[in-house]
Amino acid sequence: MKSVPETFGSLVFDDRTMKARLTGEVYRAMKQTMKKGQPLDPKVANAVATSMRDWAVEHGATHFTHWFQPLTGVTAEKHDGFISPAPDGGVIMEFSGKELIRGEPDASSFPSGGLRATFEARGYTAWDPTSYAFIKGKVLCIPTAFCSYGGEALDKKTPLLRSMEALNREALRILRLFGNLDVQHVSCSVGPEQEYFLVDRELYKKRRDLIYTGRTLFGAKPPKGQELDDHYFGVIKPRVQAYMEDLNEELWKLGILAKTEHNEVAPCQHELAPIYSTTNIATDHNQLTMEIMQKVAEKHGLMCLLHEKPFAGVNGSGKHNNWSIATDTGVNLLSPGESPYENAQFLLFLIAVIEAVDEYADLLRASVATAGNDHRLGANEAPPAVVSVFLGDELTAVLEALEKEEPYAGTEKSEMMLGVLTLPRFLRDTTDRNRTSPFAFTGNKFEFRMVGSSNSIACANIMLNSAVADTLRKFADELEKSADFDATLHALLIGSLKAHKRILFNGNGYDDAWIEEATKVRGLHNLRTTPDAMKALLEPKNMEMLLRQKVYSETELRSRYEIMLENYCKTIVIEANTMAEMTRKEILPAVTKYCAAVAEGAGKKRALVPTLPCAYETGLVEKLSVLSDQIEKSVEALEGTLVKLSTVSEITALSEAIRDTLLPKMAELRAVADEAEVMTAKEYWPFPTYGDLLYTVFR
Ligand code: ADP
Ligand code: MG
Repeated sequence: MKSVPETFGSLVFDDRTMKARLTGEVYRAMKQTMKKGQPLDPKVANAVATSMRDWAVEHGATHFTHWFQPLTGVTAEKHDGFISPAPDGGVIMEFSGKELIRGEPDASSFPSGGLRATFEARGYTAWDPTSYAFIKGKVLCIPTAFCSYGGEALDKKTPLLRSMEALNREALRILRLFGNLDVQHVSCSVGPEQEYFLVDRELYKKRRDLIYTGRTLFGAKPPKGQELDDHYFGVIKPRVQAYMEDLNEELWKLGILAKTEHNEVAPCQHELAPIYSTTNIATDHNQLTMEIMQKVAEKHGLMCLLHEKPFAGVNGSGKHNNWSIATDTGVNLLSPGESPYENAQFLLFLIAVIEAVDEYADLLRASVATAGNDHRLGANEAPPAVVSVFLGDELTAVLEALEKEEPYAGTEKSEMMLGVLTLPRFLRDTTDRNRTSPFAFTGNKFEFRMVGSSNSIACANIMLNSAVADTLRKFADELEKSADFDATLHALLIGSLKAHKRILFNGNGYDDAWIEEATKVRGLHNLRTTPDAMKALLEPKNMEMLLRQKVYSETELRSRYEIMLENYCKTIVIEANTMAEMTRKEILPAVTKYCAAVAEGAGKKRALVPTLPCAYETGLVEKLSVLSDQIEKSVEALEGTLVKLSTVSEITALSEAIRDTLLPKMAELRAVADEAEVMTAKEYWPFPTYGDLLYTVFR
């Protein structure tokens, strides 16, 4: 068996492969393009394409694809063969620079939120040379952006790259002001921790709700849930261990730095974390990771559930987005420095993030809003829907001292920073852990915990990068025109802190008292549902910021608003239809059948001994009949609501109506159906129960 270093990245056309296979000249041109985004000379592109093709064919590839991330949230690919007829009746394998750089998939069925009405219908894909090409199965995958002919982004990668550029541009301005002349580039990095559930594939196949919607729409509570906390970090069972080993191997071949794996809080819930990388690559890798997770599960007779809330009553799954900004000279800008000046620079970046999160909290919330994530945010498990920032006691005390212009008590040295304080040297890694905060500082990075497990991390990072970039722009504008840098900086930081400290909160984010304080006293947003949250995209203040940073155009933003809400509506309507189908085709017939069997049993007993009371049977038949009637009434009400909703076409109104009228009907139906489950004999219940799904395979 090959060792990990031998197999790592073996399916990636990475730097090692390029260096070994390209001529020095082509390699250097390619590196320039990757680093600075300079366009590739067609000759160079041809040389790269030829080399890529040879490498891919040697690894068994027969096709290539422009791999892109449309607004559906998953990735898309259309395979094209390398084969081309040769005059002698055979074939040759062809792949040109032109095919590498640009593709024109007939992709007119992807959601465009009206963008295509005004632009060319097809859209085109353009190579993103900053993310390496790789082989999946027999296909060479080329990471690409997806745009309309008018240049409007139809995907998630394009705005992400733009937001990274915005952050680079504005952060460089700040660094220059601090006298950093050697830094050429600032980039943001992300390490996304991915949570997921594993269930047995055969059981999965028996549940229409899991098949159609990825989550259970019915299911009574099992006797045991997660109350004993015995699963979190528990011993990994052999079947899961085998899955994880296989998964790691597949991910490593694709150059994905899968590093940490453990059991999560809920039964059969697990987590995988890679080592962090540049946001663009981390995003591509996370999309690939989700795909490979599902593929590998199949091999093990398992099904990997990436839904945010597959089971009611136990924890849902999220994706912790660990985020930091660093220079190309290797300095993490969110790491406290050694000298007072470095510390001042650290404080500036820290305070800029705080201001950005406060100013654009609604946008951050919107960036993670989906029908699935609505079940999670605001429930007693994930971060609440209220965005706040956790800094830990020490850093909070430092900022308080700064704000009051007092020396910080914890300072070991008497050196003064900005005339008032020095940061203690031991600051690094001393922050406490707070699992309830949506946005926590963890020593040298921020952890944004609101992202849903099935979401692409692109949206969250687009908003985060843009918001921070724009705050840095504001700071740089002020500092650049100042004659007294130190004094202006001092005033700027204190001013920002005073204006935005309401977002800082170190306490328990799950606490009801906090939600009360956050909304009533501090005036923070509590956007509980997707229709509430999406409005942030159209807020003039937010639109102006995103336009100013050239991350989105107004049309692009409006299209995203439409698409996200459309997705919300469709998702819930599918869930409701699935519930109706399961109720009529499975649940009601099963309850009726069981009821009849009980009645028949009682009849037989009475035929033998006419005086028998048969109280148990009579009572049960009565209860089940009443429940059946209630179930029937509920499903009818649900269907009636669906019919009414089908007449609403305006997307904002529809999303609100779905939230306010359809979701409650779904909850009512579920409640009575779950009650019937509890009273129906196991052998009659038409699909696997929570207990079956959560326990039987792994115990
Ligand atoms: P925990 O669950 O304790 O928060 P994990 O080890 O599961 O920690 O995940 C932490 C994630 O943060 C990993 O993906 C790690 O690579 C990432 N990370 C570490 N340092 C940085 C950094 N400077 N910038 C971005 N991500 C980072
Ligand atoms: Mg973790």
